[in-house]
Amino acid sequence: MKARFVVLGAGFGGLELATLLSEALGSDAGITLIDENDAFVFGYSKLDVMFGRKAPSEVRLPYADFAKPGVRFLRETITAIDPEARRVTTNRAVHEADVLVVALGADYDFDATPGLAEGGSEFYSVRGAERLRDLLPTFTRGHVIVGVCGAPFKCPPAPSEAALLLDDYLSRRGVRDDCEISLVMPFGTPVPPSPDTSAALLTAFAERGIEFVPGRRVSSLDPGRNVAVLDDGAELPYDLFLGVPKHRAPDVVLESGMATDGYIAVDSRTLETRFADVYAVGDVATVGVPKAGVFSEGAARVVAASLIARVQGGEQPPAYDGRGACYVEFGAGRVGRVDVDFLSGPKPTGTFQEPSHVLVAEKQHFGASRRARWFSR
Ligand SMILES: Cc1cc2nc3c(=O)[nH]c(=O)nc-3n(C[C@H](O)[C@H](O)[C@H](O)COP(=O)(O)OP(=O)(O)OC[C@H]3O[C@@H](n4cnc5c(N)ncnc54)[C@H](O)[C@@H]3O)c2cc1C
Repeated sequence: MKARFVVLGAGFGGLELATLLSEALGSDAGITLIDENDAFVFGYSKLDVMFGRKAPSEVRLPYADFAKPGVRFLRETITAIDPEARRVTTNRAVHEADVLVVALGADYDFDATPGLAEGGSEFYSVRGAERLRDLLPTFTRGHVIVGVCGAPFKCPPAPSEAALLLDDYLSRRGVRDDCEISLVMPFGTPVPPSPDTSAALLTAFAERGIEFVPGRRVSSLDPGRNVAVLDDGAELPYDLFLGVPKHRAPDVVLESGMATDGYIAVDSRTLETRFADVYAVGDVATVGVPKAGVFSEGAARVVAASLIARVQGGEQPPAYDGRGACYVEFGAGRVGRVDVDFLSGPKPTGTFQEPSHVLVAEKQHFGASRRARWFSR
């Protein structure tokens, strides 16, 4: 019997998995890819939208353009997952799978940070970035806090990038001298696995007068007093709060019984869950790697190779190595790069490449290559 592959979520992980299965298995692949949105947006595009560098319409990649042999894309909202039966219920239908891959990413838990929804802004969703794009031009003086409300959070360098790009933005508008910027982060350094990247970021913060508050998260906001309360009880007054909300797995995953400690536990070598023929890749899983698109893609490659080997009778792939490269915006049009290796050694390691023009072009190529591969653009 032909296997029915059902892939839940068309983000970095789901798109790469469906693409690889389609390439290998062709029009007989039998893949159903389900997402509730009508378009994909790269995480880093939210920074572009927030600072007015790109319009939202420029960064949307419509799923209508994701046309692959053997893949059926369904725009449906997943309302229940039965991992034992490999049965998925959506707002439109019930889908039975022989192999189920959960790639539903991480959602934001605004209620976990009292006051955030009323008194703060966030730049981790397209809507939040759009609101900030409209609000930032009216900000001319005062204290801005870029504040992380919980770990793990997507793309650990992103709050540092936001602080540096904000410094650029306020300087360009001639109001930087009337503003202070603080960055509150639950880690001791900006990018813990790479001391060199962290040192370069701390130097950039010092040069630009950005205060780094390490080892702390924002636990609540008091919008009445315009104060952010940190997890040690310290209070920081703010005029503008740019938050990274606490993350959690989507409700449908939590309600499925698949999650342990908030996310889906997997064998980090194979991405298998404890349920037969059910895999989880990307931000929705606990793999021991950061929540970032490059890692979702890497995990999807291992699952794809394993499934293709099962269908075609080849060797199983080597274990997932937890390696990935992230580009880091340093402001002033400069981009650096950190290569991290989370799983192949006894502890995570990272190597840093100084910001350069070559890396600006490399980051553009990173996006362009995926746009071409997934969306034929
Ligand atoms: C500001 C910012 C900057 C970033 N920069 C980078 C970067 O430079 N490099 C990098 O690698 N990563 C970056 N990231 C992180 C990256 O965007 C995520 O880690 C990545 O998208 C995770 O991929 P995923 O496939 O696991 O999940 P996602 O890409 O989040 O995909 C999950 C999909 O599941 C769908 N879904 C969820 N629930 C349901 C449901 N109930 N029904 C139907 N569909 C559902 C969603 O619509 C979504 O399309 C950044 C993130 C942010 C916020």
